[in-house]
Amino acid sequence: MISLFMRFLTFCYEMSDIWLSLQDNIALIMCEKPKNTSVLLIYTGGTIGMIENLETGVLENFNFEQLQKHVPELKQTNCHIDSIQFDPPIDSSDMEPEAWRKLVKIISDNYTTYDGFVILHGTDTMAYTASALSFMLEDLAKPVILTGSQLPIGVLRTDGKENLMTSIEIAAAKNSDGSPAVPEVCILFENHLMRGNRTTKINAENFNAFRSFNYPVLAKAGIHIKYNQSVIHAVDTSQPLNPHYLLNTNIAVLKMFPGIHENVVAAVLAIDGIQAVVLETYGSGNAPRRKWFLRLLHEASQRGIVIVNVTQCSAGTVEMERYGTGYHLLQSGIVCGYDSTTESAVTKLMFLLGHGYSPDEVRDRMSRSIAGEITIN
Ligand code: ASP
Repeated sequence: MISLFMRFLTFCYEMSDIWLSLQDNIALIMCEKPKNTSVLLIYTGGTIGMIENLETGVLENFNFEQLQKHVPELKQTNCHIDSIQFDPPIDSSDMEPEAWRKLVKIISDNYTTYDGFVILHGTDTMAYTASALSFMLEDLAKPVILTGSQLPIGVLRTDGKENLMTSIEIAAAKNSDGSPAVPEVCILFENHLMRGNRTTKINAENFNAFRSFNYPVLAKAGIHIKYNQSVIHAVDTSQPLNPHYLLNTNIAVLKMFPGIHENVVAAVLAIDGIQAVVLETYGSGNAPRRKWFLRLLHEASQRGIVIVNVTQCSAGTVEMERYGTGYHLLQSGIVCGYDSTTESAVTKLMFLLGHGYSPDEVRDRMSRSIAGEITIN
């Protein structure tokens, strides 16, 4: 009976792999398990390292030594693990660009010493951090894996242990030629390894908290970890890491809804110092054709405000030439955000504006992929 059940489980697992490979039309490849490798674990905070305050019932951060106590398995890997922690650890709702700079500095300072990096991070803003790091770590040729959990690591049913152990294995994994298996910024959650700048947090309750709607998963962890090599960045490992620290946060996100008032749109576009707006439109990039709306967008574009059109839909891409309602936006000087997530568009704008590009240069670069964050057909 048990063996029948096991065969059924194996069958389900295999079928999901077959589905994955059919979906992406790619081969799934297993990589070398870590041996004599070293990983730097960077603990920033988040639920994974929280503990319940028995008086208030509120989850509060605890330190890395306590975290290690709950994961004795850390000592059993073949991989050498060092750790570094934010002091104090932070709930990721408090994440700021300053902390992204700190992460870039830690990775850059330790780049040659370690084979890979695992960042323990709260889930709430993990997709923003992963997106930002993908732009800030230019020419990255080593794995940077962000993970966390929905339940604290001290809780019996925690998802944190598995996420942590799998992330370490991936950060240390090598191809047969010795090169890193996944040389890019990723999020590992509930057995799925995803390109960081393609992810969105989609669930505040279930263990599958993240999805990458517009890009295939890079690897899937089951009995083995199987890598989708054809969708993983091919990198030049001879290039040194080029870390970037400049970010400009003069950005707003404006989400369209039926009945939005003219004074709301006008107020956002008139914010003192605003340099870019991520406009969340409907469907394939559509918005109302009202005169006041198009006029406000046109005038803001003329003033040098970069307006990027991303869709409110979880999956799919902006095609501004598909409907008249999108075409009018194009004519008002709005830039197509393609299949970008809002998290990626916001952090890419911060990165580009931070580097002092002119509005037209920013518009041009928003229409090109920098770190695999958009697909342009
Ligand atoms: N509020 C927590 C955070 O993002 C939630 C989590 O870690 O899942 O830091």
